[in-house]
Amino acid sequence: MLTAKKLVKVYNTVPAVRNVSITLEPGQIMALVGASGSGKSTLLNLLAGLTDADTGEVRLNDERVLGPSEVLVPGHKDIRLVHQEYQLMPNVSVRENIAYALRFFEKSYRDFRVNELLKLCRLTDVQDRIPRQVSGGEKQRTAIARAIADKPAVLLLDEPFSHLDLPNRLIVRDLLFDLVRHEQTSCLFVTHDATDALSIADTLGILRDGKLIQLGTPVAVYHQPVTAYAARMTGLVNILKAKYLSLLDLPESDNPESLICLRPEQLKLDDTGMPVTVRAVYFKGSHYELDVAVSRYVSLRLLTSRTDIQVDQVVHIRLRDNELWRLKG
Ligand code: ADP
Repeated sequence: MLTAKKLVKVYNTVPAVRNVSITLEPGQIMALVGASGSGKSTLLNLLAGLTDADTGEVRLNDERVLGPSEVLVPGHKDIRLVHQEYQLMPNVSVRENIAYALRFFEKSYRDFRVNELLKLCRLTDVQDRIPRQVSGGEKQRTAIARAIADKPAVLLLDEPFSHLDLPNRLIVRDLLFDLVRHEQTSCLFVTHDATDALSIADTLGILRDGKLIQLGTPVAVYHQPVTAYAARMTGLVNILKAKYLSLLDLPESDNPESLICLRPEQLKLDDTGMPVTVRAVYFKGSHYELDVAVSRYVSLRLLTSRTDIQVDQVVHIRLRDNELWRLKG
């Protein structure tokens, strides 16, 4: 189990990580989502023992993870970090890149384990090519295979989905599922885009300005975000002041300035609903996203499978249920 307790890191006067505590159980996948500059990379480096914390500590089971100022070779043997740049050896094959991580093991075990990793990481077909001859997704999976070769307890990944096309994102998703299931590795990844995190992580955290402002299941964070930032980081959302609820035929709340979070799928087209004007129609493949004007100052996004909606058309909308989520800030 990896635990971080009240980690703090300040660069000069810039607080990069502020009082962050997390627990990562074996076989668990955690995603930390935050905008650029929210402290994701700094936190990963602290967890990996590659940056010294100002205060607080990281522990792997009962052992404290030492920072670079306390050891000769920075890092912990049971915690691996896969960077965005992959850092592969350019002149040797995919297979040899992975085997290098096992160079101190007996050859028969090394061969067996490399074959297993090639299969797990879907690299068997490209194992004899050098990094320059494989795709970005294959390079990344080589870096992951190398990182997990000698079965570390914890795998940390920096933006593992951001440079990949959809088929490769799905491969990495399946790979992480297989890894935690078969090897009980704990995975933590950071990302600025929660799309993949929602479907992969058991636990999702929201980082803002170095602070972990929310931690929970993806379902809980998506439906009950604590702030407008947490809501926006986890998907498309309508945020409107309570005083405008009457425009949707809903009772206003005690505090007219409080913010209401309405996911687009909470709204539907319904002939008995409130009339609104369509401002834009976006084709999304499986559905359309509509931007509708409720009043001069309020517009909302909603989703529909109807194909006949045009810009400037008047349609009627309604809330699917009267469950409203109020934000704290
Ligand atoms: P993210 O990975 O979410 O983009 P970072 O951890 O890289 O965020 O950065 C968090 C904050 O710390 C930013 O304000 C950044 O400018 C600052 N920072 C990061 N690394 C350094 C450094 N080596 N020296 C000074 N400031 C840094």
